[in-house]
Amino acid sequence: MNGPVIEHLYVHIPFCPRVCPYCNFFVQPADRRLSAPLVDALITQHRWWRDHSDLRPRTLYLGGGTPSALDTRSLERLMRALLEQVEPEEVTLEVNPTTVSLEKALLLRDLGVNRISLGAQSFQAEELRTLGRQHTPERITATYELLRHAGFRNINIDLIFGTPGGSEQHWAQTLQHTLALRPEHISAYCLTYEEDTPFFERVASGQWAHPDPEREARLFRQAQQVLTAAGYGQYEVSNYARPGYHCRHNSAYWRGQDYLGLGPGAVSTLSGWRWKNIPHVEIYTATWSHASPLTTLQSVTLAPGLALAGSVVDLEALDAQTLRRERLMLGIRTAEGIACERDLTPLLARLADVGLIQIDRQRAYPTLEGFLQADAIAQELFQAVDACIQKDI
Ligand code: SF4
Repeated sequence: MNGPVIEHLYVHIPFCPRVCPYCNFFVQPADRRLSAPLVDALITQHRWWRDHSDLRPRTLYLGGGTPSALDTRSLERLMRALLEQVEPEEVTLEVNPTTVSLEKALLLRDLGVNRISLGAQSFQAEELRTLGRQHTPERITATYELLRHAGFRNINIDLIFGTPGGSEQHWAQTLQHTLALRPEHISAYCLTYEEDTPFFERVASGQWAHPDPEREARLFRQAQQVLTAAGYGQYEVSNYARPGYHCRHNSAYWRGQDYLGLGPGAVSTLSGWRWKNIPHVEIYTATWSHASPLTTLQSVTLAPGLALAGSVVDLEALDAQTLRRERLMLGIRTAEGIACERDLTPLLARLADVGLIQIDRQRAYPTLEGFLQADAIAQELFQAVDACIQKDI
């Protein structure tokens, strides 16, 4: 087979029942008229890549957006196409508590989905209202039990801390509710105020106070303490798992491995190139709907063996320095850490002295405090890398 080997496949479904006021992903309200054409286009793009690469995914991740917002028939067509003749070890699908029935859950399991990521965010009704979520805490629990009943044995629960109006006591209760469900994996993200979102506007206009970094740090440490005491290992700044249940797909991103993204707005990184599929549902759908037969679709050759088709934006060649910076930035956020490269030795020794990293067998790992300060550590690593480049010029 010609073309790059692709072991990690991401599929972006940009529909949500309602767009949350803090979200800056490429999403839009679910529209049934667009679902079937989008799925046709995804299947066509997938077919094109099967013809132009060695596509044998070990992980498949359907995110968005809310893939479970697709109707059952569309989901079935899509999954059958993606999993034809392949059997990835991990197949994750993101689920919103309002968009999954027992029938849909059973079908997904039968189609090969073996990991669910459930967007719970909080078990506090007031916080859920502030976050613009349509579901209640009871609905989260009911959906979780429904997924267990359908046979899912690997479930992640997504949580958000730092919501305005919330407190350390609320966060403690949310963590306790989550632990009571005994999920295999928990993601705990600090609320961020991204530009062009209603939440950003509320802070910018003074309606809400600016987030307090000290309060966020306290909530972060609270999660670390509670979750690690309950047997969940922190293997990335925001991600905790019981032994053996880390997310293989996301771990591939954090290791800097190649991946292919299908769907509008999805990013791909392959063979030293990165691009994004056009973040526009109708244009993406039109591009790939006209690609039948596939041979009529125009493609460009980026490098020997790497061709690209369809409307893309932000195409860039990744040079060695960019890749190195990314490797350091992502690696220092994970329990796998980074290699102790020679030109970083003085800096790593200093970071170890102040307790932000541990060094063992030529690798540097973040400590519990280092996880909290991972962004600041990455900045220092970049400065050290830049200083070495200057010296070499
Ligand atoms: S459900 Fe998730 S992806 Fe959809 S709008 Fe809300 S935060 Fe964004």
